[in-house]
Amino acid sequence: MTLDIATLFAVTVFTMGLGGLLLLFAWLQARGTTALAWWGVAFLMFAPASGLFAFRGHISDVWSMQTANALMLLGYGLLWTGARVFEGRRPLPVFLVAGSLLWFTACQFQPFLLSATARLTLASCLVAGYSFAFTRELWLGRHDGLVSRWPVMAIVAVHALLFPIRVPYLLSVPFPLGAPVRDADVSSLLIFTPLLYAFAMVFLLMALTKERAESNQRHAATVDPLTGIPNRRGFTERAERLLGRSRQVQSPVALLLFDLDRFKTVNDRFGHRTGDAVLTVFTQSAAQSLRPLDLLGRIGGEEFVALLPGVNAETAIEVAERVRTNFATAAREVGGLPVTATVSVGTACAVLSGYDFDALYASADAALYRAKQNGRNRIEPGQPHTEMAQSRRNDRDLITAA
Ligand code: GH3
Ligand code: MG
Ligand code: MG
Repeated sequence: MTLDIATLFAVTVFTMGLGGLLLLFAWLQARGTTALAWWGVAFLMFAPASGLFAFRGHISDVWSMQTANALMLLGYGLLWTGARVFEGRRPLPVFLVAGSLLWFTACQFQPFLLSATARLTLASCLVAGYSFAFTRELWLGRHDGLVSRWPVMAIVAVHALLFPIRVPYLLSVPFPLGAPVRDADVSSLLIFTPLLYAFAMVFLLMALTKERAESNQRHAATVDPLTGIPNRRGFTERAERLLGRSRQVQSPVALLLFDLDRFKTVNDRFGHRTGDAVLTVFTQSAAQSLRPLDLLGRIGGEEFVALLPGVNAETAIEVAERVRTNFATAAREVGGLPVTATVSVGTACAVLSGYDFDALYASADAALYRAKQNGRNRIEPGQPHTEMAQSRRNDRDLITAA
């Protein structure tokens, strides 16, 4: 099969245009992800740029060379801006168009226009600059755990390195339209590279935004928006994993259940906003009183829970006491108001209640109930087998007997 330049360029124009439309379509379905719109428009710039390059020799150089390169540089500026927006940074319009403006300015000089090497070098270096800037944006946001950002960064960085290296070979690409491919290896590399780049980029950018959307959804489903700690679902998922690991090595685990005292009265006296502030104060003071490896969660309105790996029943009481007193101090005054909020705590230990999350929770819940009954602002330890654990065992015994 013989490929001619026209076919290759037609495929490239089609791919760039279709890629741009796909990205824009994805943006229409997820309007919040504005990066998709920037990237879509970028590919819509690449499409006419590729088309104009193809007509070199058939139409004026002003279009086939000057305008084509300006559109291409604008496309790279848009790609980079999309990366900034994706990482939550604002667009920088001056730098976005700087590449195209620099190119047009250089085109005003005759010696520059007459030197193919100078033109290719400037255009390639500007493309490399935008591509490195793109990679840098994604690199700065690398701590969010999105795995698809790495192939995107790799492909854009390689592209940035290859673009200037191509310059000497580009001079050998056959123009104008209709010329057969002379050197199959060089031509396929030079013309297929942008094509493959477009394919890979559209696919990877879609994957990247999809991964971000899924990660945001997972976060919203498992993290409490007010306090920023895991909600009931997030806490339970992690707690069960942690309990499973502790069960394997038979290491102790303690569960602390917290319920703020007379919180309804706090809301009634000081307002819901102050109530919210008290919940945040509790989260902060509890987090400071616990170790970084302890798991803290908000499981209900003013109910919190902590899972402490490697902690036995006695130490659990000490930790609970630390949380209780630190919170009483921190919540004495909230937002300048004399709130004097306190917390009651029920504790449970896996050594006594078993490594089953529900049994551990039931034991701490029963203890918390006693703490409330016994006057609040206090800690009660869980008993070795709560009524729930006992009834579960009875159920099991019955099943076994049957
Ligand atoms: P007790 O000492 O027996 O626990 O009394 P309490 O008033 O804390 O218990 P109760 O369960 O009757 O009331 C809990 C209150 O917590 C009721 C509800 O208005 C309040 N609450 C639940 N979620 C939030 C929240 O997100 N923000 C605020 N400000 N209040 C909340
Ligand atoms: Mg409650
Ligand atoms: Mg309460």
